[in-house]
Amino acid sequence: MPFKFLITAGPTREFIDPVRFISNPSTGMMGFALAASAMKMGCDVVLICGPAHIKPPVGVKTVSVTSAVEMEKAVLDNLKGADAVIMAAAVSDFKPARSLEHKVKKAKAGLSIKLRRNPDILLKLGRKKHDYFLAGFAAETDDLIDNALSKLRKKKLDMIIANLVGKSGTGFGSEYNEAVIISKDGNLRRLPRMTKQKMAGIIISEIAANIRRSVL
Ligand code: C5P
Repeated sequence: MPFKFLITAGPTREFIDPVRFISNPSTGMMGFALAASAMKMGCDVVLICGPAHIKPPVGVKTVSVTSAVEMEKAVLDNLKGADAVIMAAAVSDFKPARSLEHKVKKAKAGLSIKLRRNPDILLKLGRKKHDYFLAGFAAETDDLIDNALSKLRKKKLDMIIANLVGKSGTGFGSEYNEAVIISKDGNLRRLPRMTKQKMAGIIISEIAANIRRSVL
């Protein structure tokens, strides 16, 4: 039986009113590369995708969502039978406390927006009793390894892929990435700057090897 991968990608959008939202610069490229790579290896893939700038890989079952709350629901709805879940989406941590039905008029708008926390999907998946391999991403601007390790522990992950952001030429919006794969036993694998496709192949192979070991 092929392994089933559930992968999230892209940003989420949190609407303030029908024409304004809170989001981030994620393009979806890393998550799409992971989905394409898992599909090429013969895995079943479900891709849950926020509003990305590029088209998802052809042939992958894709569920499109907009907000973090919608992404959480789509993940939970598609979790059954998953051997691995990779949260590559850049989920917005906050959403407006109220999303207005009509466009706010400039003259009438207040200059502050009350925010609420979004659900942390990965944290919830880690806390659930589960038998799937759980991987997340940590985009950090400093103390890469320490920050990623504390996320791995807090969210009870099997693996975290830590990448430095805020450096030009890699990360958000780039075709390239530079990262460190950290496993829950503390093993580090440094991945120098390479295309996101190449990196995706390495990550999917590592996860597949882990799942194979756990079923032997
Ligand atoms: O804590 P931080 O947001 O840096 O963690 C990043 C990881 O957590 C990513 O894998 C991201 O997809 C996931 N995440 C999530 N729900 C959130 C925020 C982040 O699943 N609300």
